[in-house]
Amino acid sequence: DEFKVYSQPIWNADTKQITTAEALVRLIDPALGFIPPDEFIPLAEQNGLINDIGMTVFEKVCAFLSSERTKKAGLTYIEVNLSIYQLIMGNTIGQFKETMAKYGITPDQINLEITETGSVSTSNTLLTNIDELKALGFKFSLDDYGTGYSNLTYIISMDFTNIKSDKGLLWASDTDENSKILLTDTIQMMRRLGFNVIQEGVETKEQLDLVVSAGANLIQGYYFSKPVPADEFLKYVENFKYE
Ligand code: C2E
Ligand code: CA
Ligand code: CA
Repeated sequence: DEFKVYSQPIWNADTKQITTAEALVRLIDPALGFIPPDEFIPLAEQNGLINDIGMTVFEKVCAFLSSERTKKAGLTYIEVNLSIYQLIMGNTIGQFKETMAKYGITPDQINLEITETGSVSTSNTLLTNIDELKALGFKFSLDDYGTGYSNLTYIISMDFTNIKSDKGLLWASDTDENSKILLTDTIQMMRRLGFNVIQEGVETKEQLDLVVSAGANLIQGYYFSKPVPADEFLKYVENFKYE
């Protein structure tokens, strides 16, 4: 029970409201203190513990979504990170179904974030499981677009709902003109291809204006809020007013 799930608000540029959030796992070890997910997730993917961690996160998200207070907050769905190893090993889909039934959650309340990953992305088990999740009604977001292979043919064939534009390219755009061209043209292209674009890592008003004018319709970043515990997140949403 040392794993916690924090939520980071995602702002909708059309409605000017917080309409969704990303669930992010936190590990606070009694002896070692805070351990960043960037450090323990890759290890858990290697030793197989990712299945248990992933299910812990999924269950906490379902519990959060089922609370009366969350239902009143007006969120459309929650973004949940899914390691592709969860789709290659174990019985993730069966466990998802069981947990959702326990909390009365439907797949349209959850968007699964996956990253592009070279060789494994062609694995049959993986593709079959993704298709099965889509058939159940889950939607998918492509995480960290701009860092990996950015294979457009693959992206179009995978039928993602949201593309998450990586924070690295955004931050580089502060000082580098070519990065800015790449960022804004990519956002525009993704919008024209029919995807929603979630820009992550937005920390300043300048960055917000840049990506919104390029067409990004969902914004996530410290400019609005860091990831925070459920209670703090709900307070934030309840009191949110965009000036
Ligand atoms: P990610 O999925 O790309 O998550 C976004 C990361 O960017 C989060 O880091 C978030 O706190 C950070 N971030 C968002 N906006 C800003 C900003 O404006 N400024 C800065 N400096 N950072 C910002 P976090 O929570 O440390 O997570 C790191 C990575 O760990 C995640 O990257 C994801 O790959 C992985 N991760 C986190 N939770 C889970 C989980 O439940 N399951 C899996 N499989 N992976 C997870
Ligand atoms: Ca993510
Ligand atoms: Ca990301």
